[in-house]
Amino acid sequence: MALVTEPETLDCAVCGDAIESGYLAATETDDGDDPLPDDAVCDACGFTEVGMHGCAPELGDVTDAEADVLLHVRVTDGSVEVLGRK
Ligand SMILES: [Zn+2]
Repeated sequence: MALVTEPETLDCAVCGDAIESGYLAATETDDGDDPLPDDAVCDACGFTEVGMHGCAPELGDVTDAEADVLLHVRVTDGSVEVLGRK
């Protein structure tokens, strides 16, 4: 799944660390998913602070903004790879 714009860096909205693997809210467009880089959490915070304990976060846990999908992403060398979406 293509991203319309690829954020150069993603920082966790909870702990502020750069995200290597985590969750990113996005809106669906005709050209692909348009990410909302302000609404991203790392895996660790997603599972402990944001989602139900021990569960992956849901879209509504990550963002209050108008977003359609929650992307599970991995960031390597400044590029964002989408591992899954829901
Ligand atoms: Zn975090």
